Amino acid sequence: MKKKIETILASIGIKKQDSHGAVVDPIYLSTNYKFAKLGDHPEFDYSRSGNPTRRLLEDALAALEDGKGAVVTNTGMSSVMLLGALVPLGGNVVLPHDCYGGTFRLFKNLEKRGLLTAHYLDQSAEDFPSKVQTIKPNLIWIETPSNPLLRVVDIEAVTKLAKQVNALTVCDNTFLSPALQNPIELGADFVMHSTTKYINGHTDVVGGAVISKTKEHHEKLYEMANDFGITGSPFDSYQTIRGLRTLTLRMQQHNTSALFIAEELSKHPKVLKVNYPGLVSHPSHELAKKQQKGFGGMLSFEIDLEPSKINDFLARLEIFTLAESLGGFESLICHPSSMTHAPLTPEEKIEAGIHENLLRISVGLEDKDDLLNDLLSALN
Ligand SMILES: *Cc1c(COP(=O)(O)O)cnc(C)c1O
Repeated sequence: MKKKIETILASIGIKKQDSHGAVVDPIYLSTNYKFAKLGDHPEFDYSRSGNPTRRLLEDALAALEDGKGAVVTNTGMSSVMLLGALVPLGGNVVLPHDCYGGTFRLFKNLEKRGLLTAHYLDQSAEDFPSKVQTIKPNLIWIETPSNPLLRVVDIEAVTKLAKQVNALTVCDNTFLSPALQNPIELGADFVMHSTTKYINGHTDVVGGAVISKTKEHHEKLYEMANDFGITGSPFDSYQTIRGLRTLTLRMQQHNTSALFIAEELSKHPKVLKVNYPGLVSHPSHELAKKQQKGFGGMLSFEIDLEPSKINDFLARLEIFTLAESLGGFESLICHPSSMTHAPLTPEEKIEAGIHENLLRISVGLEDKDDLLNDLLSALN
């Protein structure tokens, strides 16, 4: 029986074969596992290669993303690197020009070391297909909605284009989670997550995951993750499972509160522009409605203040914390130009549309009126 997402989430690690009959599967911290006799091949032998607690999380993520398997890694960036390692020496990778800062820097550094060529492109531009036809990339990286401008890329269109040039496609689904977007159903070969964000949702574990559409790709990545020694720890996996169980409930609240705040901020005279795909005025509102099951908890806005006054605004906030990262239960605000996107050169920032007066917020699970009032009192 194909189960609904809520059932998958509430069944993770329930009624497994624990010898005491524990309802919730215990955590397996043991680094090694017994062989019954010579020639035996136990399911698990050594925790880097395989661990029962990590496996629970992997199986859940594979089911949620409709993949044939998932590899859980120790950080989101090691999942990005794992996928980058699929590119042959001297190969070409196409990435969004406004992708996550760490991904941007990693592929830039791989290029500097002569391993591959990274092309950062606007994937919604009219000339994007012709550029891809010319580059003939090995891998196309999709990240939608983008960070920090919440631009939406048409996953189905990009994966179709990729097939014409025999490129593999990855979709970084960190901003929406499998509760709100399923890239494999839309044609992607791989889904990548920084599980640090919505998947764990409790701001206490750094982790990553890659889910593959095919068994062959999954087995290859699984072997590579073991070779590289980047698999996630049992403790992190246990914590992440605990957070994951409430994913749909959390995402519903993130959606509701973010839409409310985006709509209210749009009406404020000191707010020049709000970027949130849930707003009818957003350029990719229709596309977001088509490929997403919700608009998510992330938004950004341009504030009508001198850059020197932005610090005063931030200091007046009582609920929002000035910090990087996103996707937790707590509301955060950040200044992409000097924080998350600091690795970009001034030209790259302009090209990506990241201005000095842009602020990004991760809308948490606090009461939505309290959150709005916090922003409004700091603005006024
Ligand atoms: C945080 C993040 C990453 C990197 O993950 P870490 O867990 O910080 O290593 C990659 N992509 C996106 C979209 C992210 O937000």
